[in-house]
Amino acid sequence: MHAEIVVLPGDGIGPEVTAAAVDVLTAVARNFGHCFNFQHHLIGGAAIDACGAPLPEETLHACQHADAVLLGAVGGPKWSDPNARVRPEQGLLALRQALGLYANLRPVAPHPAALGAAPIKPHLLAGVDLLVVRELTGGIYFGDKQRSPDHASDLCSYSVVEVERIVRRACQLARARRGKLTSVDKANVLETSRLWREVATRVAREEFPDVQIEHQLVDAMAMHLLARPREYDVIVTENMFGDILTDEASMLAGSLGLLPSASLGDGRRGLYEPIHGSAPDIAGRGMANPYASILSAALLLRHSLELVDEADCIERAVSEALHAGAFTADLASTTAPLSTRAATRAVLAHLCEERQPIVMRD
Ligand code: NAD
Repeated sequence: MHAEIVVLPGDGIGPEVTAAAVDVLTAVARNFGHCFNFQHHLIGGAAIDACGAPLPEETLHACQHADAVLLGAVGGPKWSDPNARVRPEQGLLALRQALGLYANLRPVAPHPAALGAAPIKPHLLAGVDLLVVRELTGGIYFGDKQRSPDHASDLCSYSVVEVERIVRRACQLARARRGKLTSVDKANVLETSRLWREVATRVAREEFPDVQIEHQLVDAMAMHLLARPREYDVIVTENMFGDILTDEASMLAGSLGLLPSASLGDGRRGLYEPIHGSAPDIAGRGMANPYASILSAALLLRHSLELVDEADCIERAVSEALHAGAFTADLASTTAPLSTRAATRAVLAHLCEERQPIVMRD
């Protein structure tokens, strides 16, 4: 297969972790006989520095014509002046909207070897395997913003169509998993949440009678996610609640550096990025965990290129690297932590071990 992949390293640790993912994708292409063409473009703070805009026209155009986009992260203290005219995050929000990427999939399945890094009791974590489906192009992040010297407001709005399509996507995903959907809202207070709950109930009942749906208020969900995470299968929620709950869920896995994400629309083109940010506190020190970015590359293969065996192969290689104790500093406790490059090499070594059976099968 030939595929055009746009790489947007972005800011902070973004370039370090996307380089790792590109190395792994290159190895997969070699092992399986594919041709992936990588085009690097600017986004976020790096783009503001280079040309004054967080999403240059050239970057947007390249993304609109690619098979998939691999992103690092955007933002950092250099561009965080609240009075700044342009901000790095605007580039990412505009890109998600321009590509129509309304569904953000964030799988969370703690790895047995990394349980020690999680601040949660290990017996609560065994067998946890959940998927958060976050609405990505609506809600308060995209609503009208007002500011006067003594007042500020952010509008949160959702249309029926926006809720229907994300709940439908979540139901389809639940159907292919354990058939359980938890819809999270704040229906006791917010009108948008009352609409959300009404639409979610109808879509599940009319179109997915085989999917079992339950509703949770977001504040209770924040507690249940830590107290009984094993009970959840697919969790669907609006933009801001999903953003916050998945950072919380990362603590089930042990580190933000382990969680990948896929942002999808109605077609096959998607944007793949770790759920973490640009981590300015560790940027440039070669110590970032590359696994979330590498696992995002696996999601890219599965969802945009439909290369399921190749995606499985990457996920197995990361899993084996973790089993073998290939821990970066965010996961390591007593052992000496690996650098970003060394952790990437550990994954590449396990990918290479898989090469022989593939060649023989051909
Ligand atoms: P962050 O996710 O960047 O970092 C939070 C903590 O987790 C830090 O201590 C960091 O060192 C650690 N961490 C994150 N990723 C790691 C990795 N791969 N390996 C090891 N440790 C890792 O969140 P933040 O500090 O709140 O935000 C920093 C910047 O990133 C801000 O400008 C924010 O706006 C931006 N941000 C961008 C995105 C995105 O691009 N999608 C998402 C979240 C935050």
